[in-house]
Amino acid sequence: MKLKFLLSAGISFAVLACVLVQIADAQNRTVLNEAQRISGDQFTVVTRTPKGAYIYAVRQPSAEMLSAIDRGLSGLFEVARKNRYRSRLNYRDYTIYIAKADREKDSAGMYSPDIAVAAAQYTGTGYDKGGFIYAAGIVVALNPCAFMIAEHTKDLDRVANAVRYEGEHLVLYHNDRSRYSTTADHSKGGGHPILQ
Ligand SMILES: [Zn+2]
Repeated sequence: MKLKFLLSAGISFAVLACVLVQIADAQNRTVLNEAQRISGDQFTVVTRTPKGAYIYAVRQPSAEMLSAIDRGLSGLFEVARKNRYRSRLNYRDYTIYIAKADREKDSAGMYSPDIAVAAAQYTGTGYDKGGFIYAAGIVVALNPCAFMIAEHTKDLDRVANAVRYEGEHLVLYHNDRSRYSTTADHSKGGGHPILQ
C-alpha cells in the first residue's frame, strides 16, 4: 500500500485546520482502518445523512449533527458548480467519520472540538503542541472521498464549515488537479474557504 502524506494544517477565519492524508486507490476497508489509526477510535456506528452521505461514528450522531453535515455539503456543491466543477457533487460520493474530540475548547477557551493528529511538517511551528496539532477536520482519503471531523454537541455551524472546507480539497482533487496541488498544503500559506 502506498501512503503519501499530503499535509496541511491551516487556520482560516473560522480557525479551522486540516490535514490531508492520501491513500492511493484505497478501498473502503483500508479507509476505515486509516480513519481508526488516525483517531484511535473504533467507528462501530454506520449510518447515512438525510441526503445520503455515508457516516461512520463512535456514537449515534444527533439529527442536528447529520443535518449540519448535509448543510456543509450543500454549500460545497453550490460553490463547486459556480466554479464549473461537475465531478463528485453527490452526497453519496462522501464518507464522513465522526471522531471523539481530543479537545473541547481551544487555547482561548472557545468551544472548539478538534482532533489531535501527528504534527508531521508542522513540527516546530506555532501549530505544534508537542508532536501533534489540533485539526477541525482531516481528509482521510481522496478516492473514495473521505474525511474526519469531531463530534459536536453545539455550534453546528462549525460542523457545516468544517465539512465544506475539507470537501473543498476533495472537489479540487477530482475537478482541478493543479488547483488542488497549490492549495493542499496550508503550511505554505492559504486557508479556507478556497472556492468563492
Ligand atoms: Zn484545508
